[in-house]
Amino acid sequence: MPTHGLITPRLAEEMIGSRLKLRPIESLPLTRCGGGVLREDICAERDQPPFDRVAMDGIAGDSDNWRRGQRRLKLQGVQAAGAPQTTLARKDHVIEVMTGAIMPVGCDCVVPVEQIDVDDGYATLKPSAVLTPFHNVHRRGSDAQRGSLLLACGAHLRAPEIAIAASAGKTQLRISCQPAVAVVSTGDELVEPGEPIADFQVRRSNAYAIVASLLQRGLNRITDRHIRDDESELTQQLALLLHTHDILILSGGVSMGRFDFVPRVLKQLGVEEVFHRIAQRPGAPMWFGTGPQGQAVFGLPGNPVSTLTCLIRYVMPAIAVSMGMPGGVSERLALAAPVTIDSPRTYFLPVCIEHDESGRSWATARPTNGSGDFLSLAGTDGFVELPPGPNTYPRGFLSTGYRW
Ligand code: AMP
Ligand code: MG
Repeated sequence: MPTHGLITPRLAEEMIGSRLKLRPIESLPLTRCGGGVLREDICAERDQPPFDRVAMDGIAGDSDNWRRGQRRLKLQGVQAAGAPQTTLARKDHVIEVMTGAIMPVGCDCVVPVEQIDVDDGYATLKPSAVLTPFHNVHRRGSDAQRGSLLLACGAHLRAPEIAIAASAGKTQLRISCQPAVAVVSTGDELVEPGEPIADFQVRRSNAYAIVASLLQRGLNRITDRHIRDDESELTQQLALLLHTHDILILSGGVSMGRFDFVPRVLKQLGVEEVFHRIAQRPGAPMWFGTGPQGQAVFGLPGNPVSTLTCLIRYVMPAIAVSMGMPGGVSERLALAAPVTIDSPRTYFLPVCIEHDESGRSWATARPTNGSGDFLSLAGTDGFVELPPGPNTYPRGFLSTGYRW
């Protein structure tokens, strides 16, 4: 069997998904809810708009009277936004009105400033003025009725949804509680940026990428730890992190090397192995398990391209699903040029995504010099998932794409 009995990426994703529970709910101030997932229904506090709303700066009056021929009208007063409703005293009067004001009593039409001439306290309607009832009036309840559903549980709270929640008078929202995530780098060779470094050492770069990726998705309950390739230190530190976090994202230490202690240590700490190794390149040694309190533990291979690929392919979608995020995070992408990859396993190919004149997205291959070469990822948008070959994938070949 070409994949040596390893599970497929699809199965790995399903195995992770079936073990991650929906996150609990927390109530947060509206200002902190952007990017979150709503876990309650939001209904309209009042009709929307709550009153017949002036939609243009201009004058308001009685359109019936205007249509009968009255074009020169006395300016009676001003109706500003936020001011209580005034009343038109006579049919041959008009009231100067501002966008957002309540329509004065006795008025049913707004003529914009551009369509009137004003002199000596009188407004004269230009021939271009439209004189039909409720022209330039945003009618009360025309967008939503009081009590009607504005946002359903599960809504992704982006800018429009936050505005809608604010319009409903909400100061706090019930949203999916963010997981506490521990990002753990393992390896004696890793040195912090800024610290002196020897020839035989490498910079601890994976953790910075993982943290950036979490923050980019609005996940900010993060602990970042570096643990040496020492079994007892690893045991001690991971025990503590398991106690205090919902998700552990480890990089390194899951392969076949003498110092790859991670799977063994996790098992000793009661983390049940769900799978180890996936039929994919890069990232075959990926490990996943669940802790005694349902913690999700992702053991990502340390090679930086593998780490990032596995993070985006498995960890981020799993977190999104557990937050109750609607829809998938992947997209369909067509290859811009033929690609030949001789792999009996699913292949994750870094790409740049470009748009042609008709707006169609095309993925251009940006292969790396192996799974250690993350420098080639600079400027790429993500990767596509190519099904097992050996195969030449023609131009236009549609595959699933993931963005960094
Ligand atoms: P490992 O999975 O621990 O066998 O590591 C595989 C390769 O990835 C080795 O060359 C490590 O030095 C490198 N590596 C592991 N962790 C990191 C990290 N946090 N940042 C950069 N490189 C890493
Ligand atoms: Mg290592």
